[in-house]
Amino acid sequence: MTGAAGFIGRMLTRTLIEAGENVVGIDRIPQPARPGLTVLTADLLDDDGLVRAALDGADVVYHLAGCPGVRDRRPGVARRRHRDNVLAGARVLAAVPPSVPLLVASSSSVYGGARGGWPSRESDPPRPAGGYAESKTLLERLCAERIARGGLTTVVRPFTVAGEGQRPDMALSQWLAAAREGRPLRVLGSLDRTRDVTDVRQVARAMTDLVARGAQGTVNIGTGRGHSLRALAAAVAEALGAEVSFAVEPASPVEPGASLADTSRLRSLVGWTPETDLLDLVRRQAAASAPAAPGDRSGKVREPVAVGASAAG
Ligand code: NAD
Repeated sequence: MTGAAGFIGRMLTRTLIEAGENVVGIDRIPQPARPGLTVLTADLLDDDGLVRAALDGADVVYHLAGCPGVRDRRPGVARRRHRDNVLAGARVLAAVPPSVPLLVASSSSVYGGARGGWPSRESDPPRPAGGYAESKTLLERLCAERIARGGLTTVVRPFTVAGEGQRPDMALSQWLAAAREGRPLRVLGSLDRTRDVTDVRQVARAMTDLVARGAQGTVNIGTGRGHSLRALAAAVAEALGAEVSFAVEPASPVEPGASLADTSRLRSLVGWTPETDLLDLVRRQAAASAPAAPGDRSGKVREPVAVGASAAG
């Protein structure tokens, strides 16, 4: 597995080990080895021989390494995205023989959001709305070439993933940190925006099930249900027993108004659909990231105060 030290990678590693599998986890971020996990700390682009040796003989390869973050606009991020999402992907694709099942993490961002309230289907044309989505669209093209050559390949498009270990740059992590410190929750656009939020445990299970069923081609991983940011904020307030307020900023052009997965392909392949209990999910993530005992405030959500000229409430 590549990206094994990341948010989804750590959960996928746990899921596979619990199922009795042995995992070789490749990541440039070190992590401790443990029973069932052999750690290889390396950059996928630095040592081709090492990566080939690590992937050689694998029964299945999960390629999760990448440079995530739809909104990241820091200097150098475009280069890093191309490097880690496209070039590293190309290297893994070249290293895995066509007969070995390969699961590649793309992203729902390739859709550019749900249109007119309709869920996004795998057959919809990609409409990448920013550098991250564009890099994943390119990665998907490389995967399509492998598929055309008969290579066993599952390309997954996870929607927003949440739960224990979520990346600190993701919205829910940021909101939990802000609510704990009594700062307003930063909202881009409006609290009425919706997100298809999937539990990381179910994302990992969907990945292993898809590989077990020999799924070929592109598959959404989502719940098919949209949760408003307002509902997510209410879950944060309740999970922490904190009162939350908001700082609403103009929407970023790379942020879709709504994200919603069409889950029919996933369901037909694995026989189940992920389901999210928002409060339970937020509670678990909060507990896993808790720096101290939760505050004792009232668990209320205050109406948003708009900041920025074009902010919507
Ligand atoms: P993450 O950043 O937590 O994990 C990615 C890991 O890949 C990191 O540990 C990083 O060190 C490693 N990595 C990146 N480039 C590497 C390289 N060249 N060599 C070695 N290691 C490298 O991200 P995540 O949230 O776990 O996401 C995993 C994958 O799923 C990513 O490809 C991401 O784009 C995709 N995805 C995530 C979400 C989500 O909501 N988290 C949604 C859709 C798609």
